[in-house]
Amino acid sequence: GKKVLIVYAHQEPKSFNGSLLKIAVEELTKQGCSVTVSDLYAMQFEPRATRNDIVGHLHNSEAFNYGVETWEAYKRGGLSKDLVEEQKKVQEADLLIFQFPLFWFSMPAILKGWMDRVLVQGFAYDLSKAYDGGLLQDKLSLFSFTTGGSQEMYSNEGICGDMHYVLWPMQHGIMHFCGVKVLEPHICYAPENVSEEKRKEMLTAWTQRLKTLWKEEPIDCSPEWYFK
Ligand code: FAD
Ligand code: ZN
Repeated sequence: GKKVLIVYAHQEPKSFNGSLLKIAVEELTKQGCSVTVSDLYAMQFEPRATRNDIVGHLHNSEAFNYGVETWEAYKRGGLSKDLVEEQKKVQEADLLIFQFPLFWFSMPAILKGWMDRVLVQGFAYDLSKAYDGGLLQDKLSLFSFTTGGSQEMYSNEGICGDMHYVLWPMQHGIMHFCGVKVLEPHICYAPENVSEEKRKEMLTAWTQRLKTLWKEEPIDCSPEWYFK
C-alpha cells in the first residue's frame, strides 16, 4: 500500500477541518494505505526557526545564519529530534496532504513553521537541486483547505482575487521547489456560512475524490499565464 503523511493544522477535532482529516484517515486506510498524521497543535509543534534546531556546535557561532546552520547540521546528523522525526515521515511518504483553514491568504503559522523547519537544505533541496531537480522527487502533495470567503469572492472578478494567487506560494514556491509533484488542490469554501446540507455535500465530495486519488495526474502548478 501507499504511504500518506497528513500534516494537519487545526486546534479542534470537532471542526470542519477535523472532519476532513477524519475522512481522509478512514478512506485512505480502507484503501490499504498506511496513514501517518502530524497533528501540529496536538504535538505543540514548534513553528519558530531558531538556534534550538541545531544540536551541538554551530558552524559559525559569530553570526547566526539559520539556512546555513540547518544545512550543516543536516549533513552531520545534528538537527533537533522533532525535525528528524518529521523528515523521516516525509521521506517515507508517497503523498503529503496538508489540511488546514486558510489564514490571511496563507497557511496557519504552525504549518508555515513546519515548512520553514522541516524542508531543510540538503534534505528537501540543494544547490542547483530545486524545482524539477528538487530532492523530494517521486512524491505527491495535495493542499486541502477551508476558507471563510466564498468561491465567488475568490474568482478573478471577486474581492479576494483569483485563488491561484493564494496557491502559488504553497504549490510552486514550496512543493515544486522541493521537487514534489502537486495534485489539484481541494478547497472547501466557507463551511461556516453554508447550510448543514451543503456541509455534508462537501464532506461527501472529499470522500469521493479520495476514492480515485491515485488515478489523478499531477497539475502544472506554474502555467504560463501566471507570468503574464
Ligand atoms: P468550523 O467553524 O470548525 O466548521 C464550520 C461548521 O462546520 C461548524 O458549524 C461545524 O460544527 C461544522 N461541522 C464540522 N464537522 C461537521 C460534519 N462532520 N458535518 C457537518 N458539519 C460539520 N478566511 C479567508 O477566506 N481568507 C483569509 O485570509 C482568512 N484568514 C483568517 C485568519 C485567521 C487568523 C482566522 C482565525 C481565520 C481566517 N479566515 C480566513 C477564516 C477561516 O479560513 C475559516 O474560519 C476556516 O477555514 C473555517 O474552517 P473550520 O474548520 O475552522 O470551520
Ligand atoms: Zn510549479
